[in-house]
This record gives sequence, structure tokens and C-alpha cells, in this order.
Amino acid sequence: MSFFNTFGRAPRAPKRSPTPTSASFPQDGSPASAQTPPSPVMTNTKPLYLCSPFAEAALVKGNFKTIVMLPKYVDVMEWVAVNIFDFYNNLNLFYGIVAECCTAQACPAMSAGPSLDYTWIDQNRRQVKLPAPTYIDYVMTWVQNMLDDEGVFPTKAGREFSQSFPATAKHIYRQLLRVFAHIYHAHYPQILHLRSEPHFNSLFAHFLAFGKEFDLLEVKDVKGNLQHGAVGVGDLWEKWKDMGILES
Ligand SMILES: [Zn+2]
Repeated sequence: MSFFNTFGRAPRAPKRSPTPTSASFPQDGSPASAQTPPSPVMTNTKPLYLCSPFAEAALVKGNFKTIVMLPKYVDVMEWVAVNIFDFYNNLNLFYGIVAECCTAQACPAMSAGPSLDYTWIDQNRRQVKLPAPTYIDYVMTWVQNMLDDEGVFPTKAGREFSQSFPATAKHIYRQLLRVFAHIYHAHYPQILHLRSEPHFNSLFAHFLAFGKEFDLLEVKDVKGNLQHGAVGVGDLWEKWKDMGILES
């Protein structure tokens, strides 16, 4: 049984959730009740997620800075761990709703831009191209295993985070970013069809703001580079900075 048959399609309810997306996430996921979103005039090949009104759609108005800041008396490791747990669970819910369209036939590569396909590093340190559903299955299984590992994400009183936790957190963040980038690039029409773009945008803006605040994100990972190709969501990041939603 694949990972997504056990988790993606019928995900566990997140246990702790500072992200505003989960409170009003459409539980039934039914496209029948969804209205058809307005169609922007397509005069060029600009992706839909960069077009009005979709790029501006959000549950959270204003800047994300206040909701990512470390609360008083909270340990920074604990705060990063709780938020990663939450981003992972929410992203898993969203992937669950697009997963039936993300097949090896539809997505033979882990694409994130017109000329960008991510490669997976295998056990022999070789770069391998994988279909997106396989790549995402590997990422989400890998993250879930770490979340379940008391040595990495301690939950019991008296257990300390290891010194390698910041590096691990950064590594997880980088891979979750790739899953966001693939969904935006390849599956945004399904997100729109379910009228979930305000939820998904808010989750992603929260993810970016949090990553920036705690140095979990590299600019090159969000934007891509000339050699490997631009990441589609890099332009969304710039747009949200221009709009004042994210800090520049
Ligand atoms: Zn896909």
C-alpha cells in the first residue's frame, strides 16, 4: 500500500495547529458545491497563481510577521518543531486533494517551473529523475518518519532537541518547499476548482514567512537559478513582497 493511500487520502487531523488554514479547511472537499472561479484573461503564459484575483486571495489579511514571531517563553526549537509539524500536516491535506491528478503519467517529473525538474538523490548519492507522485511519496514518508522519531522531534518532558536539529529542520523545509512548488506549478487548476486558493496561498505565505524568520529557507531554493531553471513560485514570493504580505 502506498503512503498516500494510508495518509494522503484520509489524512490524520492535525493535533496542534497555529496555521489559520486548518480551521476553515473544506472538510468535504466536494467540488460540487464550489463555484467556478472567475477566469482571468490569458494574454500571455503567466501562470494562474500569479494572476488576479488568485494571487491576492488569502485568509489572513496583512503581514505574516506577527504570527511567525517566537512567542514569549517558548523555546525556539519547540516553536520550529511545532510549526514544521503543522506545515507538513496541512500540506499533506492539500496534496491529498490533488493526488488523484498527480500520477506518473500526468507528472512524469517533479516539475516546479517551465524548465525545472527536481531530482532525487538516491542512496548512492546519484541524482535520479522520479515521477512527481513518487518523489512526493518519498518526501512525505521521510518527513513523517522523522516526526515520529523521538530522537529528532522529542515530545516527552525532559527530552532535548539534538544539535543537528536546525540542519534537519532546514533540510525538511527545503523538501516541503519543493512539494508546494510542484502543486503550484502543476496542480493549481485543481486548487482553484475547489476554491481553496485563499487557504493554500495563506498556508504557503505563512510557510515562507516562517522560513524567512528562522533562516530555514535559502533564496536560491525559492527562486531557482539560471543553470537549473527558475522556480515558478519565486515570482509569487516577489509579488507578495511587493504587496507587503511578506517582508522583503
Ligand atoms: Zn503532480
